[in-house]
Amino acid sequence: MRIGVVGTGYVGLVAGTCLAESGNHVTCVDIDETRIQMLRAGRVPIYEPGLEELIRTNVKERRLTFTTRLEEAVRNSLLIFITVGTPSDDDGSVDLTAVLAVAEGIAKAMDGYKIVITKSTVPVGTTRRIKKLISGATKHEFDVVFNPEFLKEGNAVDDFMKPDRVVIGAEGPQVGETLKELYAPFVRTGKPIIVMDIESAEMTKYAANALLATKISFMNEIANLCEEVGADVESVRGAIGADARIGSQFLFPGVGYGGSCFPKDVRALIRSGEDAGCELRIVRAVEATNTAQRERFFRKIQKHFNGQLAGKKVAVWGLAFKPGTDDMREAPAITIIELLLEHGALVHAYDPRAGEAAKSFLPDGGVTYSPDCYSALEAADGLVLLTEWPEFRNPDFDKMATLMKERVVFDGRNIYDPLRMRAMGFTYHGIGRR
Ligand code: NAD
Repeated sequence: MRIGVVGTGYVGLVAGTCLAESGNHVTCVDIDETRIQMLRAGRVPIYEPGLEELIRTNVKERRLTFTTRLEEAVRNSLLIFITVGTPSDDDGSVDLTAVLAVAEGIAKAMDGYKIVITKSTVPVGTTRRIKKLISGATKHEFDVVFNPEFLKEGNAVDDFMKPDRVVIGAEGPQVGETLKELYAPFVRTGKPIIVMDIESAEMTKYAANALLATKISFMNEIANLCEEVGADVESVRGAIGADARIGSQFLFPGVGYGGSCFPKDVRALIRSGEDAGCELRIVRAVEATNTAQRERFFRKIQKHFNGQLAGKKVAVWGLAFKPGTDDMREAPAITIIELLLEHGALVHAYDPRAGEAAKSFLPDGGVTYSPDCYSALEAADGLVLLTEWPEFRNPDFDKMATLMKERVVFDGRNIYDPLRMRAMGFTYHGIGRR
């Protein structure tokens, strides 16, 4: 099939590349000229494992091209995906400016029948709004579809290639069939393609993200209670995760969720509830718990130093909101580092991938970026671990002990064993550990 993908961010670039990999001809469009120039020159503007190689192959095979001209992509394609950002406004509502601008641009460029597929996460009603907007601006026939994306940054290529399910919100059976045909190569192991009405598909994306965020906030509250009453959340986690009704994923306590999706999607759902006169008490609590969790972790650090953080050298391992990505959007590291700096600490940070991206999210001049994890530790008064990158899981503890001025570790992801850490002479603070 001939496909246009508008927006070459984490979703658009991965979707476009994977759709090309399955034999389609894909034109990727972005408004950002630098990004398109980079892609044309064979450089990838984001870090996502396996993506660069796949782009290279598909460009070489002439199935994948990049342009800033939306019109060119629309004319060349039957299917056009909208994958631009849908950030939060100050009041939690979704800023649809980019999505609507793209829809209008598509309408103006249409030269025949097209299927316009919204993949950006949008509130219920948006796809129908897009349909109205397009029909007001073109005389050509078209269909609209909502097709949420469930990929996880850090594993995006694999997730797109082997989805747990594909959800398609469409009107009428024919367009649903076309989309099923498009996705058939990705579900050969029998994973379902679930076709439903557009509104339910829009709601599915928010419900899925909010439920995952709920699991995280729930476990953070249980971890906090474990700390107070003398239980160990890691034992609790293992045992409740073994219950098939609960499942073992997303039960990891930590410093709270972040990223470009959970925080904004949880806020958007709360806002949708308010607009509809239907208060979502659980979802509201999920957000409040998440904010409190970051502050609680900071207070733990502060308490260890008897409130005297001024002049303390604090090493931070991990800045990205999760391992496997350079995405810093709403990363817990931002809140925690800002609090450390506000209280006079000297922050020396290291992240295997997000160091460069972090610079535009953290206060100017406030953080020293270390070239590797060990140099961040030189003469440090403590280590704060915020992202569980694989390389932090089994470091050279002897070297750490030699480098650090004070052997104290604040493990925001519970990746170390408290007993082993204490046996090696470290003071260890985890989340909800005995
Ligand atoms: P992103 O910010 O990484 O990328 C968006 C891209 O769209 C940017 O390159 C930007 O330059 C481009 N863009 C903006 N306006 C444009 C326009 N008018 N014309 C052409 N290009 C334009 O965003 P993302 O993380 O890929 O997310 C995109 C959407 O997918 C969001 O709605 C998000 O909620 C959803 N989503 C994201 C993820 C994820 O893990 N990032 C997962 C599932 C769904």
